[in-house]
Amino acid sequence: MILRDKSGNEYAAHFRHIEIPIYEERGFSEAAVKVGGLWSTECTFHAGRCKRVDGEKGDLPCETSPRQTGVAKCSVRDQFKRVTGRKLALQRAMRNSGFHIHPVHVSKEIRKELWEDYFKQRPKDKV
Ligand SMILES: [Zn+2]
Repeated sequence: MILRDKSGNEYAAHFRHIEIPIYEERGFSEAAVKVGGLWSTECTFHAGRCKRVDGEKGDLPCETSPRQTGVAKCSVRDQFKRVTGRKLALQRAMRNSGFHIHPVHVSKEIRKELWEDYFKQRPKDKV
């Protein structure tokens, strides 16, 4: 998704939800059985539009640089929620960028403006 701050500067945030399956051995002759999965959400964040024309679509990692990544991992006990995953991963990606002047520096004030735009575009994520 494209996020805009109050001055109209554009940033891109890409999300991927990844499941690492958990298998359990059930006996010598049988194949391992999938008993669950560990989910994580990854957010790739960068200033400006994507270099790839199709970068905004699908699960393909965007190759625009400089960029920052934030990851939210579920533990075994967590119930996976896409909304929570997105928010945590984006928060981490933006916070990572706040610590560096390079590659992408996003101040606290700008981050606030980007969250406002995020919730304007995804009002259901506000819970
Ligand atoms: Zn991108």
